[in-house]
Amino acid sequence: MLLVAMNKNHEVNAGNVEPQVTAIRSLCVYCGSWRGIDPSLEQFARTFGSACAARGIELIYGGGGIGLMGTAAEAALADGGRVIGIMPRSLLESEAPSPDVTELVIVDSMHERKKQMFDRADGFVVLPGGLGTLDETIEMITWRQLGFHDKPIVLANYRGYWNPLLTLFDHIVATGFAQPDSHDLYTVAHSIDGIFERLTANVPSPIRATA
Ligand code: AMP
Repeated sequence: MLLVAMNKNHEVNAGNVEPQVTAIRSLCVYCGSWRGIDPSLEQFARTFGSACAARGIELIYGGGGIGLMGTAAEAALADGGRVIGIMPRSLLESEAPSPDVTELVIVDSMHERKKQMFDRADGFVVLPGGLGTLDETIEMITWRQLGFHDKPIVLANYRGYWNPLLTLFDHIVATGFAQPDSHDLYTVAHSIDGIFERLTANVPSPIRATA
């Protein structure tokens, strides 16, 4: 199945007022290099990887064989999906690349990794993760705020993992450091199906409650 995302700011064809529809063929997943303490989050990552494979969506990720990111990648591979890992040379030892990735791209810096992950992906999905995950996510949100791209960004708020971040986003808007429509820069999903629905619609979903 091929997913499509509406790119609301893109050009329209002459005589056609419909927004451009872009196929989602590849997804960048940001998630933890740790497993966390809740085993259901690891299962969620596994199901997400399998769901990408089932939909024929290529998974782009940091390349490591560890933590939730390794879990998602290995699940996609096990189900016949394509997985592209982008790994800085300096992290080859500590992040232990998954041996079976379809393509492992070794780059010279973290900046190059992030750029390649951005370039290759049609959209971004954020699973539970730590500080690195947060850094990558905020960068994609702020790049979208600056108009550098209009690719969908979905926060997978499984079991309310990202609620504190969503509360912080609310605080930033409430205190006048971002426009209220900055909430439109990302969407929030609570389930695997919800992630793919949000990607398809690329519409805001200011929902905070845990599903
Ligand atoms: P973490 O969420 O901290 O477990 O990290 C998840 C992934 O993000 C790992 O592959 C890290 O290498 C990567 N990462 C950590 N710090 C950064 C950063 N400053 N920029 C981009 N990626 C990072």
